Amino acid sequence: MQIPFNKPFIPWYSFMHLIRGAWSGTIAGNGMYTKKCHAFFEERFGFTKVLMTTSCSDALEMAALLCRIEPGDEVIMPSFTFMSTANAFLVRGARVVFADTLADVPNIDPAEIERLVTPKTKAIVVVHYSGVACDMDRIMDIAHRKGLFVVEDAAHAIDSCYRGKPLGSIGHFGTFSFHETKNIIAGEGGLLIVNDGQFAKRAEIIWEKGTNRAAFYRGEIDKYGWVDIGSSFLPSDSVAAFLFTQLMQFDNIQTRRKKVWQNYHALLKPLELKGYLKCPVVPDFATVNGNLFYITVPSGETRDNLIAFLRTQGISALFHYQPLHSSQYFIDKHDGRVLPNTDRFASTILRLPFYNSLRKRGVAHVAGKINEYFRVNGSR
Ligand SMILES: *Cc1c(COP(=O)(O)O)cnc(C)c1O
Repeated sequence: MQIPFNKPFIPWYSFMHLIRGAWSGTIAGNGMYTKKCHAFFEERFGFTKVLMTTSCSDALEMAALLCRIEPGDEVIMPSFTFMSTANAFLVRGARVVFADTLADVPNIDPAEIERLVTPKTKAIVVVHYSGVACDMDRIMDIAHRKGLFVVEDAAHAIDSCYRGKPLGSIGHFGTFSFHETKNIIAGEGGLLIVNDGQFAKRAEIIWEKGTNRAAFYRGEIDKYGWVDIGSSFLPSDSVAAFLFTQLMQFDNIQTRRKKVWQNYHALLKPLELKGYLKCPVVPDFATVNGNLFYITVPSGETRDNLIAFLRTQGISALFHYQPLHSSQYFIDKHDGRVLPNTDRFASTILRLPFYNSLRKRGVAHVAGKINEYFRVNGSR
C-alpha cells in the first residue's frame, strides 16, 4: 500500500467556481469571491475584520507593517517554526529574538517570553503548532503589562480554539495559510485577521498598495489615491473562487481531518504505553483541528531510521523544522543561547501522512509499520 504524505483535496466542482468567476468578467483582487470568503470567515468565527492575502507569509508581512516594526525593534518568537514567521519581521529591520518551546508541547514557552522582554521589545509572535493553542492568557497578560503587540501565526490553526475562543482572534493580528498542505487550500493563499478595530482602515490601505481604494469602492470617499506605504497583498479573485469551494465543504473537510487525527491517536497510544514513542500532548485549554499528526521518538537516530524504514514500505513520513536560531542564515545573528526543547523536538518529531481521504485502513497500515519497526529494533 502506497501512502503519500499529502493529497490535496481538489474536487471537480472547484473548477465550476473558477469558471463562474472568470465568466463574471473580473478576476482581479477584492472581487465577488473574495467578498464571499471574507463573509464566511467573519460569520463562522466572529472575526471582526479579515483580508485575504496571497499567502500566510504576506499576512505576516502585513502584520509587521501594521505594528510599525522599525530597525532596532525586538520581536520575540519561537525558533521552532517556518522561516516566514521570522522573515516578515526581518525585512522590516527587526531584531528577532528566538525563544525556546515548552518541554512537552512544541509551542513557545511563556516563561521564556517573560525573560526575553527588554525595553526594545515591540511584539511577540506565537505559533500554534499543529493547531494546538499556545497559552494565550499568559501571553496576552505579558503583552498587556509590557505594552507589546501579539501576532498569532495561526497557519496550522484554522477552526481550533483556546478556552473556546477561535485561534487567530486573540492577539492584535492573526494569520492563516491556505497552502496546499494546510486544512483548507487554495494552492497558495492566506488570511490576515485584524482584531483591534483601530488598525482596520490602515490594514485595507496597506493591502491595496497604500491606496484608499477599498473605502472608495464602498462609496465612503469620492476619489482615491496614495495615502500610505503598502503592497499588492490581495490575491486574484480566482484564488478566492478556488478557496470558496473548500469553504462550502468546510464541515465535511474538518470532520474527515479530525477523524484522521483521532484514528492515529487511538492506534498509536498503545505504542506510547510500550515506551516506543510519544503522541502529541493537547493541554486542557486547547482543541484538535486535524491539521497534522506528529509523534516524537526517543532519539534523532531512531527518527531518521524510522523515516527510512517507512519509505521502504511505501509510506512517506517527514520531519521539520530546522530550528531557525541555528539555520545557516541566522546562526551568526543568534545571541548564542541554547534552546534545548527546540533542538529536541526538531530532531525527534516525525510527521505522518495526513490528508482528507486517508481512511482508517491506511492509518492502521502506518501504525502497524511503526509497531513493526520498534518490535524489530527496540525502543532505543
Ligand atoms: C505554512 C506556514 C506558514 C507560511 O504559509 P504560506 O501560506 O505558505 O506563506 C507560516 N507559518 C507557519 C507556521 C506555517 O506552517
